[in-house]
Amino acid sequence: MGVNGWIPPSKLGYFLTHEHVMVDFIEAGKISKDRYNIDEVYKTALPFLTDVRKAGCATMLECTPAYLGRDVQLLQRLSKATGLHLVTNTGYYGASKEKHLPEHAYTETAEQLAARWVREFQEGIEGTAVRPGFIKLAADKAPLTPVQQKLVHAGALAHLQTGLTIGIHSGDGAAAQEELKILQEHGVSPEAFVWIHAQNETDFSIFSEMAEAGVWVEFDALKTDNHAQYLKLLRYMKDKGLLHKVLLSQDSGWYYVGDPGGGPYRPYTELFNAFIPALLRNGFTQRDVDLVLKRNPVEAFGVRVRRAD
Ligand SMILES: [Zn+2]
Repeated sequence: MGVNGWIPPSKLGYFLTHEHVMVDFIEAGKISKDRYNIDEVYKTALPFLTDVRKAGCATMLECTPAYLGRDVQLLQRLSKATGLHLVTNTGYYGASKEKHLPEHAYTETAEQLAARWVREFQEGIEGTAVRPGFIKLAADKAPLTPVQQKLVHAGALAHLQTGLTIGIHSGDGAAAQEELKILQEHGVSPEAFVWIHAQNETDFSIFSEMAEAGVWVEFDALKTDNHAQYLKLLRYMKDKGLLHKVLLSQDSGWYYVGDPGGGPYRPYTELFNAFIPALLRNGFTQRDVDLVLKRNPVEAFGVRVRRAD
């Protein structure tokens, strides 16, 4: 589900599953659309999105949640101008010690929070026709706080009503394990769970354990200076026969609200221009590349309910 409606699977092409166009790190209580000029953000982001489209990317998940700078009208405009399919999200960001959570995240039940997210999927976000294509949540390192646990519970409920995949920014592997447990307790299959920022974990055995359980393991902060680390992560998963559960992205971009001109903007093209060639030079095949960057994302982010057995 893109910001301009359903995208046929055959049109998804190469896929970046974790990037940002704009982020505002001010706390939830102070966030406002008056803090930036949408035309300036549009003009800043446009060339970067155009470049990655030209480099071969067809679809990008924009992972900025509500209360952190999600602006679906901005994404709609950029998607129309570039031909890049952009996908936005519903859900709340409970990491960074919960500073990006609205007050009602504390007072409402998991059922009430889920109802808000389901409504965004059914009726559109903030009065627009734009619908979320996935649920984005976030928690710090384990153990999860009670509110972070509640968000995961709400994510499970929202998944069962919408079929939207749940991506959770996880501080470490133990947090991801705890999140998986909560999802399963509430009837959601591991196949509906994307472990965001898996590279934060140093114990590789947790990658294989989670992938074998059905979880999507996302290594998503590829940069110019960490190719060796990413080759190692992918090599490990390939040797375990688990490349079919891996997602790869860059966590790049973005316009920093509050910084003059949006601050430094990290291009989205590293993966296409430099890392795919590096993979092909290092024992990976074009088939492996297509699996991780085309087939897995379609499988992971297709909208359908996945119940725990
Ligand atoms: Zn991110």
